[in-house]
Amino acid sequence: MVSERIANIHESTTLKISAMAKKLNKSGLDVIDLGVGEPDFATPQNICEAGCNSIRNGETHYAPTSGIAELRQAIAEKLCDENKLAVTADDVVVTPGAKMAVFATVQALMQEGDECVLIGPSWVSYEPCVAFSGGHVVWGQVDEDFMPVDLAETITRKTKLILMNSPCNPTGAVFDRKILKEISDLAVDHDLFVVSDEIYEKIIYDREHISIGSLPGMEDRTVTINGFSKCYAMTGWRLGYLTGPKETLKWVTRLLSHSVSQATTFVQRAGVEALRGPQDAVKAMRAEFCDRRDLFVYGLQRMGIICNLPGGAFYVFPNVSKFGGGDVFADKLLKDALIAATPGSAFGPGGADYVRISYAASQERLKEALVRIEKMLK
Ligand code: PMP
Ligand code: GLU
Repeated sequence: MVSERIANIHESTTLKISAMAKKLNKSGLDVIDLGVGEPDFATPQNICEAGCNSIRNGETHYAPTSGIAELRQAIAEKLCDENKLAVTADDVVVTPGAKMAVFATVQALMQEGDECVLIGPSWVSYEPCVAFSGGHVVWGQVDEDFMPVDLAETITRKTKLILMNSPCNPTGAVFDRKILKEISDLAVDHDLFVVSDEIYEKIIYDREHISIGSLPGMEDRTVTINGFSKCYAMTGWRLGYLTGPKETLKWVTRLLSHSVSQATTFVQRAGVEALRGPQDAVKAMRAEFCDRRDLFVYGLQRMGIICNLPGGAFYVFPNVSKFGGGDVFADKLLKDALIAATPGSAFGPGGADYVRISYAASQERLKEALVRIEKMLK
């Protein structure tokens, strides 16, 4: 027996492919896993220490649903300084992972029949989050650089929110101030909410990250989501957060209180260290990601594969329509080259011509992947 709402939700393709790659590796095959979006770096030692110390200090009990005071304060200061959002600790809710922040926010804002706009190929979990709420996704178009075009055409009387992600998973696109202004104008004119998932904000190359919530008129209609998984290599710790209008935070907190309760107490202590401690590891990881991006993108381009140079995140999203499209290409990559990648169709209908390849792997493995791809294409 299963409810209709759950039965309509498909498995996370990224997690499915990652599990498959691990299984194949266990069976003795040398699969290069470029399927999942997970930094291959270890969590910085100072952060691990803070988590361990917290356990030793006996912080192994429940925490407040919205998070421990010290972490909410550190996050609020970060959001003020770096993101130009005028928030206090009271305006911050901590979640077990940014995924939960997205999920809870969408449930708090959307109801049966409402529409949520996604801008071109978008992260695999957004549409299922909307489906859980009883709402529907309307797909906005993007140009060849994955920038929104004619977004106004997606707005109907039922539109409730625009869910955006810059730097973007899977395209790597970074929205500049002009594009953010266009989105914010639409939101203000049509009285919409914007949910801005900024989890890749620090994995950005030669560009500036701007939080749409800092633009005029956006303060009371933006929910900004972020987390520790990507920039601090803390995927397994499960720590994220959101800020937004007090009313939205109230309902998100209520949902958390009846589901996950709160993020793990000692993990939150590690989060305080991540934000307040030295940031050199973040810088070093970004520099390494940038080298890998160049290595991989130029490598693909040399083989005649159409591939943009992404401005952020750690994915390349080449157009493989001339090789049969994303599904066929990803299948071939796994069978013929033992490379796990995610077909673009997992990110919505606009992704069908593409394949997402994560370059969160060592340069050595990426070079090996390029050799295998070249051989496969010959
Ligand atoms: N948003 C985007 C765009 C992501 O790629 C991810 C990666 N899983 C998440 C949110 C969720 O991150 P986490 O739950 O690990 O904090
Ligand atoms: N966000 C990552 C990805 O897109 C991790 C997997 C997931 O949470 O879906 O691969």
